[in-house]
Amino acid sequence: LAVQPVLGLTPYQPGKPIEELARELGLEPAKIVKLASNENPLGPPPKALEAIRRALPETARYPDGSGFSLKHKLARKLGVQPQQITLGNGSNDVLDLIARVFLGPGRGAVFSEHAFAVYPIATQAVGAGARVAPAHDGSRGPRYGHDLGAMLDQVSGDTTVAFIANPNNPTGTYVTRKQLEDFLTALPERVIAVVDEAYSEYVERDDYPDALAWLDRFPNLIVTRTFSKAYGLAGLRVGYAVSHPQVAELLNRVRQPFNVNHLALAAAEAALDDEAHLRKTCRTNREGLMQLEAAFQRLGLDYIPSIGNFITVDVGREAVPVFDALLRQGVIVRPVANYGLPNHLRVSVGTAAENDAFITALERVLG
Ligand code: PMP
Repeated sequence: LAVQPVLGLTPYQPGKPIEELARELGLEPAKIVKLASNENPLGPPPKALEAIRRALPETARYPDGSGFSLKHKLARKLGVQPQQITLGNGSNDVLDLIARVFLGPGRGAVFSEHAFAVYPIATQAVGAGARVAPAHDGSRGPRYGHDLGAMLDQVSGDTTVAFIANPNNPTGTYVTRKQLEDFLTALPERVIAVVDEAYSEYVERDDYPDALAWLDRFPNLIVTRTFSKAYGLAGLRVGYAVSHPQVAELLNRVRQPFNVNHLALAAAEAALDDEAHLRKTCRTNREGLMQLEAAFQRLGLDYIPSIGNFITVDVGREAVPVFDALLRQGVIVRPVANYGLPNHLRVSVGTAAENDAFITALERVLG
C-alpha cells in the first residue's frame, strides 16, 4: 500500500473543545473549565489584539511569505541572525519540516519514553524508524524525565535526528545545562539535535540551559519555540526554529510558501512587545503551580514536579474514568495513557479560580 507508514500512525489527540462539552452537558460555554491544552489562561496579549485589529484590512493580500519583520524582531531579541530563523504554523509545523528534511525511509529518530507525542507522529509520517530511550527511573534524574545517556545509547548508524523536549510535555521535567552540554558534545555531528523549548518562557531554574547560546558551537543543533504557550496565541499558530543558517535554508526549501498567516505574523510581533502580559502570565503560572501542588499534597496524590504551565498527577487508579467523571463536572483535563502514563492526568495551570474549580471537582470525583 502506498500509504503504508501512515497506517501505523495514531493521530494526535487534542483537548476536547469547550463548545462540544458545553453542548453535551447543556451548559453555557462560560461554565466549562478547560485545562487541557497548556494554553495561556489570561488570553492573548492586549498588544497582539490591537495589532490584529490594525492588520485586518490587509487580509485580502497574501501574507509576507518570508516573515521579514517578525524574523528581524525575533533575531534582535534572541541575539541571532534573521537567516537562522524558520517560521512555522505553530512549532508542530517546524517539527514536521525537520522530519521532512532530515528523516525518511532508512533513517531513524531517537527520543525518550513519555516524550511529546508529535515526535513519533512526525517520524512515522515520513517513513522513518524510531528508537525510544527509557526515561529516568528516579535514581539518577527526575523520575519520568529524559535520560540523555540512555538516548545516546539509542543512537545508531541510521539515526539522523534526536528530539529533546525541554521542559518535556507531559512530564514537566527538564534536562540541565550540564546534561544537555554533555549530550551535544557526545552526539555525532551528523545527527540533528532538536531542543524543543515550547515552554521555556515559564522556566525559572538556574541550571536550565541557554541552548540558543550554543548554536555556534553545535551546528547540528535546532532550538524550537512557540507563541502558543506563554505568548497566548495558540489559536493563531506561530512557532519557529533557530538553527545554523544552512539548516534554516534546508528547512525553508520544504516550507509552504505562506505557512504563517498575516494576522499571526502581526500578532506575534506585537506579543514580543507586551512584556507586562508575559510577566503577569509567568506570575500566574508560578502561583497556580504552587496552588495545584499544595492541593495534590493535601489529597495525598503523587505528582511529577513541573516547570511548565501544566502538571501531571497520579490519581492512583486508571485515569480515563477519572477524566470522564471530571468532564461530567464541566472540567476538561488530559489523560496521558498514550504517553505510557495510564494512571496520570495532565492538568494545565489556569487562573486561581479555574484551578480551584478543578481541585473541587477532582476531590468530588475521587471521593
Ligand atoms: N512542543 C511541545 C513540547 C508541546 O507541548 C507543544 C504543544 N502541545 C508543541 C511543541 C507544539 O505547539 P505549537 O504547535 O502550538 O507551537
